[in-house]
Amino acid sequence: MREGRGVGTSSCLTVRQVVSKVVICETAPRRCKMNRAYFTELDPNRTQREMLKAHADAARFVWNWGLERKKTVIDLNRLPIERIRMPTAIDLHRELNDLKAMKFPWLYNVSKCVGQEALRDLDKAFEHLWKGRAGFPWFKSKKWAKKSFHLNGNCPTAPRMVEVSGRYIKLPKIGWIKVEEAAFVPEDAKISSITISERAGRWFVSVQVREERAEPKPVDGPTVGIDAGVGDDLLVIATPDGEIERVKNPRVLRSNERKLRRLQRRLSRKQPGSKNREKARLRVQRHHFKITNVRKDALHKATTALARVKSIIVVEDLSVRAMMGNHHVAKSFADAGLSETVRLLEYKTAWYGSRLLKADRFYPSSQICSNCRRIHPEMTMEGGFAPVLLCECGRMVDRNENAAINLSRWPSVRRTLETPAETARTAKAGSVIEAGTAAA
Ligand SMILES: [Zn+2]
Repeated sequence: MREGRGVGTSSCLTVRQVVSKVVICETAPRRCKMNRAYFTELDPNRTQREMLKAHADAARFVWNWGLERKKTVIDLNRLPIERIRMPTAIDLHRELNDLKAMKFPWLYNVSKCVGQEALRDLDKAFEHLWKGRAGFPWFKSKKWAKKSFHLNGNCPTAPRMVEVSGRYIKLPKIGWIKVEEAAFVPEDAKISSITISERAGRWFVSVQVREERAEPKPVDGPTVGIDAGVGDDLLVIATPDGEIERVKNPRVLRSNERKLRRLQRRLSRKQPGSKNREKARLRVQRHHFKITNVRKDALHKATTALARVKSIIVVEDLSVRAMMGNHHVAKSFADAGLSETVRLLEYKTAWYGSRLLKADRFYPSSQICSNCRRIHPEMTMEGGFAPVLLCECGRMVDRNENAAINLSRWPSVRRTLETPAETARTAKAGSVIEAGTAAA
């Protein structure tokens, strides 16, 4: 738009400039829609804290009630009688509303959205089950289950049910709660849903927003492979020429882990069921949470840096690793970090214009010698955890470094693998001459 007006008003533009302007207009970044979550801590007062707990309890109760109902239907359908249709979230919510006044009047104290969303989550859990992505949904324990609940951001009957303004967030039935960060959600954000959860006695809110942003320009940078590090290294990053970069575990982590062990020891000495045990448990929980945050922060920083400057990032297909089972404790711990890294990279690469590739499950990145390409079958997980690869060609290389280098070479390996299939396809669709060259 602006370009068009510019051409019309400024008479001193030459033809060349006008043309280049038009080109700019055509290559103007396209807009794309994406979901984004904004996260912060809540600062509720005593009454609000009780209300939040009541909401989480209600969500758990409704989930368990719905699960019980669905289970009954499944059991009945096993009998040689006419099949009953599985009740959906909408059916169950209607049923719950009819029962509310008689059986569960306390549910009137919490927002009706909580139950609705809990039943919707239950539907999703069953969908995962039917598609083979997850096991049978669990009943949520009052003691052990994570306290959390969802609310829908755009309820048609109450359009401004959830609102964020300055240092406050408005929730139905609870009202305005103070948050730790001012303006943690952009002013004009379209809130699609919110999740409230408790960790170690603190309450957090995650606001999901549907955002429109300019499609990023592709990053102009090197290709890298990433493997999980062990010990002091969080990640090992390598280029195809064998340049290595290491993301270190934050130094505070080590001393914090020592402290965690001490707290856990203290907890184990406390009398079961006592007040002191409860206090010690909360202390362990809090410290655990702190360590998770330090790790998370390091991973966030590393992945943002990667997604901004590397054009292609290659990782191993982790689903295979998980299937193989991993009995080396340090390594499996490192892999947990890697799977979190992959999760972060999945959306960050889309944000910043780089690409994330997952190497084929048949590409033995930790078994190939990155120098002479000999395969070393002894470098498997089952064959114990060898920290170094020793090759007949005289190369001695750290296991993770070697894997990362091989992963960074995956895009070119894949291209050579793809060529025969590609040629076959052109041969099938193309002319006789092309088929002849493909055969030759
Ligand atoms: Zn070699």
